Amino acid sequence: MEIRNYSTDVAIIGGGGAALRAAIEASGKGQNVILVDKGRPGRSGATPCALWSVQAPFGPRGEDERDSPEQFFEDMVTAGRFIGDQNIVEVVAYTACDRMLDLEKYGVHFKKYDDGRFVQTPMPGQTYPRSCFMIENGQHMSTVLAKEVSKHDNIKVFKDFFVFNLLKNADRVVGLIGVDMLTGDTVVVNAKVTVVAAGGYASLWGFSDNPPTLIGDGAAMAYRVGAELVDLEFNQYYGTDVIWPPSVKGTIFLYELMIADFVDGEITDKDGNPIIDKPLPIRDDAIKTIFNVIKEGRGTEHGGVYYDTTVSPKTEEEISQLFKDMTPKHYRFLKDAAGIDAANQRLEVAPASHYQCGGIYINERGESSVNGLYACGEVAGNFQGANRLAGSALCDTQTMGAQVGGCAADDAAKGDLMPVEQSAIDQQIDFLQSFISDKQAETRPVFIKEKILETMDAHVAPFRDENGLQQGLEAIKSLKAEVPKISVADVKRYNFELKEALETSFALDTAEITIGSCLFRTESRGHHNRTDFPNTDDQNWRCHTIVKQNGGTPEYAKRDVIYTRLKPED
Ligand SMILES: Cc1cc2nc3c(=O)[nH]c(=O)nc-3n(C[C@H](O)[C@H](O)[C@H](O)COP(=O)(O)OP(=O)(O)OC[C@H]3O[C@@H](n4cnc5c(N)ncnc54)[C@H](O)[C@@H]3O)c2cc1C
Repeated sequence: MEIRNYSTDVAIIGGGGAALRAAIEASGKGQNVILVDKGRPGRSGATPCALWSVQAPFGPRGEDERDSPEQFFEDMVTAGRFIGDQNIVEVVAYTACDRMLDLEKYGVHFKKYDDGRFVQTPMPGQTYPRSCFMIENGQHMSTVLAKEVSKHDNIKVFKDFFVFNLLKNADRVVGLIGVDMLTGDTVVVNAKVTVVAAGGYASLWGFSDNPPTLIGDGAAMAYRVGAELVDLEFNQYYGTDVIWPPSVKGTIFLYELMIADFVDGEITDKDGNPIIDKPLPIRDDAIKTIFNVIKEGRGTEHGGVYYDTTVSPKTEEEISQLFKDMTPKHYRFLKDAAGIDAANQRLEVAPASHYQCGGIYINERGESSVNGLYACGEVAGNFQGANRLAGSALCDTQTMGAQVGGCAADDAAKGDLMPVEQSAIDQQIDFLQSFISDKQAETRPVFIKEKILETMDAHVAPFRDENGLQQGLEAIKSLKAEVPKISVADVKRYNFELKEALETSFALDTAEITIGSCLFRTESRGHHNRTDFPNTDDQNWRCHTIVKQNGGTPEYAKRDVIYTRLKPED
């Protein structure tokens, strides 16, 4: 097997908003960066799927002069049900405006008033309208960031590069190992510091609006090298993804547009009775109502509820124009792929897996619990808490992306490059080779993946109980036992089935510790609802769930939340 070797100051895994922003910052501090992405930077991950909404408390420079970083901070902390570490929320809330101005400088177009103020839309949970409006949405932001990265000579980018593990020397992460799909080579990147910005894993569930590639790589690779993960039980569902017809299943259609300022329609049961009060509740409350209506048998034929614009006092033309302005891609897609005009027809929608509030445990500099390993973006945990607000995820990619890229660069500048030991590489090569052989395959990775998704849908929905979770855990453990039966062809370039096998292996680890975290937290809060423990138990559970590998098995523990400015009792 051919192995190519590189060394660098900062290695970054991912090509979404967080990775690209971290790379720009690290490069700006004079450090050499290698950025690797299993897709194409700027076109992969969740960032290009995102809508217009990115929060920044511009106050007098935006929609409402009363808004401030303090207010943004408070809104995030309370929406997160007091489970977000406030040292990190501070970075997000207090640097958001500067990072939006950076985006503008790179070339992102925001909607603005003639006097230069940012147009900001109101969203549930924002005390004042705070979502800046990115014209052409997350796709535009991703492309602009990728273009900005390309201007930096000290950032080397590898696309179609699948990282299958991190590398350690003693107790320090010293880089990564991956397959360069283009050449088929195995590649070792030896780095002073390594940043994981590999996104969330909402596609570990079957009904999701995320790209199928986001299935658990980042969380699992950190877990395997002994990093602590946090609050994995808080997988955020989004209330109104289209569930029918199949040609458009999983398309997000914005719940937040139902407010009186926009569409002013209703989410209803099958008989047309409105089920969500106005002002609209934040996401965790909304999905609970929708799930309960479906559970009670008041849902639509295909297991959803209606997203109904036809009851709005606004005209069809007004609503159609609004969709064209606010969510043109999705509006057009429903028309093209299913012949549905959402301005004059009801949509069948249901909650879908959307975002990971938990992830790799970090501090405000993005350092994980393992030396040399940093994380930012959706893969990082402890700041959204038990629930997140609209527009806070893209904001996080830029604020924490820049913060973590900068801190990683500072630490790289101070440190020496610690080598990767041959034994660590040999171990990883053996792992890779274990999937490749000319023996007849007894199963294929896609079959295992399908069963993982079915298991998560069946047993790890937002309403869960011990019995179902135990069944889910057993199912995942037996799927793990299937992995040695995988055998993929020894194809050198673009060996997609090998990539599938490696992804499946990551997904199984991530599923196991997610279910374990759900079992560990015996209360209900945010997006985690235990039907056998239906109450929020602040006395015992206003804390983080930590999971860490110990001797090959997951170990769970509680950890205090960091409160800096706002205590729950205040
Ligand atoms: C439909 C949709 C709409 C949304 N709308 C909004 C919105 O309007 N506002 C908002 O704030 N948030 C929104 N979000 C959430 C937001 O888009 C994401 O949380 C955010 O973009 C995540 O950015 P990221 O850089 O952390 O990860 P991602 O953008 O997901 O990028 C992860 C990267 O890691 C790479 N990667 C993964 N595994 C590997 C591996 N093994 N090797 C190499 N590379 C790897 C991927 O290819 C990808 O490039 C939305 C999400 C979705 C799905």
